[in-house]
Amino acid sequence: MAEAKVGDDVLRDDPTVQKLERRAADLLGKTDALFVPSGTMANQVALHTWMQPGEEFVTEKNSHIYNYEHGMFGTATGAVPRPVPGRRGILDPEDIESAVRPEEYYLSSTTLITVETSHNHAGGTVYPPDTLQEIRTLANRLDLPVHVDGARIFNAATALDVEAREIAQYGDSVMFCLSKGLSAPVGSILAGPEPFIEDALEVRKTFGGGMRQAGVLAAPGLVALDEMRDRLDEDHRRASELADFLMDVEEIQIDPETVQTNILIFNVADTGMTAEEFVAALEKKNIKAGSTGPESVRFVLNRHVDDDDLEAVRNAIHTITGS
Ligand SMILES: *Cc1c(COP(=O)(O)O)cnc(C)c1O
Repeated sequence: MAEAKVGDDVLRDDPTVQKLERRAADLLGKTDALFVPSGTMANQVALHTWMQPGEEFVTEKNSHIYNYEHGMFGTATGAVPRPVPGRRGILDPEDIESAVRPEEYYLSSTTLITVETSHNHAGGTVYPPDTLQEIRTLANRLDLPVHVDGARIFNAATALDVEAREIAQYGDSVMFCLSKGLSAPVGSILAGPEPFIEDALEVRKTFGGGMRQAGVLAAPGLVALDEMRDRLDEDHRRASELADFLMDVEEIQIDPETVQTNILIFNVADTGMTAEEFVAALEKKNIKAGSTGPESVRFVLNRHVDDDDLEAVRNAIHTITGS
C-alpha cells in the first residue's frame, strides 16, 4: 500500500487501480472490471446499470441483494424484487422461469436474474455448474441478463476445484469481494462486458464510489488475488473439520450438506441458549461468532484462524454446552 503508484482514478489514470481491474477481469474471463468500495455498492451498481424503475429482478429469498443491502434496489433504482425460495440457497431454474413475469402490458417486466454463489445465508453453499448452465440457457431463451453475486466466488471455485472464470462465464455481470476471505481491507470488483462497465462507471460515480488516489486500496487487492486465493482450501478444510465436530455435539444441529466452503451455520436451540447468548458465551472465550437468527449461529473460517484456534473452539463448545 505504501509503495503503490497512484493517480486519480476519477480521471481513470491510477495505474494500480487499472492493473487490479485488468487482473480481475482476466481472472473472471470478462472484458472489463471496475474497482468499487464495497460488495454492496458493486451489486447495486449492477442492478442500477441493468434495470429501469418499476422493473423486476428474480432473486433468492435469502439473498444478500434482497435482505442485507437496505433495500437499495428500491431506493436507488426503483427495482422490484421477485424473491424465490431456493434449496439451501440454490435456485431451481424452473422456479426462476415461473417467477419471470409474462409479457403483458399490464404487468411489470422482469429484466434481471441474480444468483449468489457461495450463498452466504444458506451456509456458504455453491451452485453446481450444471444448474448455472441451465439458468444461463433459460436466461438466453428469455433474453435476460444474469448477475452473479459472487462475493465469495473464489471460495465457490475452490470448492468446485475450477477456475473462477468457469463460474463467471454463466453471468453477464459478476461481483466479488477482495475483502472477507481474500483478506484485503477494502474493496470489491464488478466485472462484465465493456459497454456494461462503461455505464457502471457512471453509476459508480453517481453513488459516490469514485475514489481518487485509490491505488493504495487497489494494492492490497492485487495481493489478495495473487496470494490469498490459493489458501482458501485451508479454510474449507477447517470448516469441514469443525462441522464434523459439531455433528457430534448433541445440543447442536447442523446440516452437513450446507458446509461446502468456509461458513458454518448451526442451530443452538437445544443448548437452552438463544443464538445471542451462545455468541456471548463464545465471546467470553475470545471466539468471535455471529448470529443469523434467534437460534442460529454462524462461524466463518479465515486466514487468522489456525488449527490451534480450532482446538480452542472445540474446547469452548464442550464447556459451554457441558457435553
Ligand atoms: C458480504 C456480501 C456482500 C456485500 O459486501 P460488502 O463489502 O459487505 O458490502 C454481498 N453479497 C454477499 C453474498 C456477501 O456475502
